Amino acid sequence: MQSTSVCIIGAGPGGTMAALRLAKDNIPFVIVDKDEFPREKICGDALSGKVPHIIRRLSPEILERFEEKCKPMHSFGIRFIAPGNYVFDVPFIENYNAEKHPVPGYTVKRKLLDAFMVEEVSNIAGEKLMTACTVMSIEKGEDGFIIDTSSGQIQAKMIIDASGAASSFKAPYPKPEPEPKKTALAVRTYYKGVKGLHPENFIELYFLENILPGYFWIFPLPDGLANIGIGIRKDVVLKKKINLSAVMDEIIRNNPLVSPRFRDAERLGKPAACRLPLGNPRFRIAGERYMLAGDAAHLVDPLTGEGVGNALYSGFIAAEQAIDCFNENRFDDAFMLAYGQRIRRVLGKEMSISTNFQKMLKYPRMVKWIAKRADGNKHIPGLMSSMFTDLDHRKKLLNPIFILRVLMNR
Ligand SMILES: Cc1cc2nc3c(=O)[nH]c(=O)nc-3n(C[C@H](O)[C@H](O)[C@H](O)COP(=O)(O)OP(=O)(O)OC[C@H]3O[C@@H](n4cnc5c(N)ncnc54)[C@H](O)[C@@H]3O)c2cc1C
Repeated sequence: MQSTSVCIIGAGPGGTMAALRLAKDNIPFVIVDKDEFPREKICGDALSGKVPHIIRRLSPEILERFEEKCKPMHSFGIRFIAPGNYVFDVPFIENYNAEKHPVPGYTVKRKLLDAFMVEEVSNIAGEKLMTACTVMSIEKGEDGFIIDTSSGQIQAKMIIDASGAASSFKAPYPKPEPEPKKTALAVRTYYKGVKGLHPENFIELYFLENILPGYFWIFPLPDGLANIGIGIRKDVVLKKKINLSAVMDEIIRNNPLVSPRFRDAERLGKPAACRLPLGNPRFRIAGERYMLAGDAAHLVDPLTGEGVGNALYSGFIAAEQAIDCFNENRFDDAFMLAYGQRIRRVLGKEMSISTNFQKMLKYPRMVKWIAKRADGNKHIPGLMSSMFTDLDHRKKLLNPIFILRVLMNR
């Protein structure tokens, strides 16, 4: 049996970020993943500005290597399509200036991002990175946990569980239950040759009337590829008996804004489905000697479905909490509360604003009315750009009086 200070379960973005941050402070760890890398990961492959921000904070050299090796596409904004086919182009940063502003966002296949992060960990951790190694169960030990894996037992003083949305091993700590209203179901596939992609690689979100509060997406990728998908809240999928792949095909065949662009496009492989555990502040994500990070902690943005940035942030914060635990020699419940508090401080506000936006999308007629009024309004793109950089502005957009004022002031 090998012994370590921290056992990290999962080598996705959450787990690898935790490992790299622990390594900076020389805290011993073992990181295990059931997969071998590179491997496919079902995802939209769109990364928000949070991703370069937190990787740079970990190490500017790692961010440079990521850009060099993975050659992600820089994406500069979002094209929103509202019910009624109203189109709004919203740059992430208004009047973007590459000298002054950080990279606004990326698109890159998750297969590449995840393999890159694993390679970075492998370079510093060597055999402490155990791939093709499945965690089967965890039990409480005398001074921490005993983790039973397909490659033998590991004894660890702490656990960072970053095992994603679909892990199924038995653990002696509570894991959040996936409630249908707090879960989205999504499918994605790849196409080659989709026409009319935005020259500045804007990602496209189609909030169509029949799929609200979900959306259909077209995300441009390097090498002439595009990631195409659809995601809808699970309770809505179940209630309306929606077949996501069929609805996605129907949009590609018949939506007047979409179908002409797919006429000569080729689908590469079958659509693949997965669930997204949407952010839920009620969950307990830490306790004596353990922390949950990323999807295991249900940290996906309820409006946009963004989870990679939040997984990286939570992995980073979990590692810093673990460093505090070893420095103070405190692993008790009360001390671990700080982890949840810091996650709420960093991600809580945007999660709750996104939850409220998502609730608003339940009313298609209202959304259509707002879109009609907003069409051609010169204040809207700037206002929506500020949503990405200023949380207080995003909050203002939930205030009906503020929205009415902007809509009337054409
Ligand atoms: C269809 C779809 C589209 C999405 N689109 C986007 C997007 O465009 N942008 C975005 O930011 N987010 C998107 N997301 C969300 C994003 O994919 C997740 O939030 C992100 O992967 C979370 O990272 P993580 O490290 O927490 O978990 P994961 O990336 O899931 O990593 C968990 C790891 O744990 C391992 N593991 C699980 N069980 C065990 C076990 N028993 N033993 C050992 N290892 C185990 C797995 O093999 C995996 O490698 C999308 C999700 C879906 C489903």
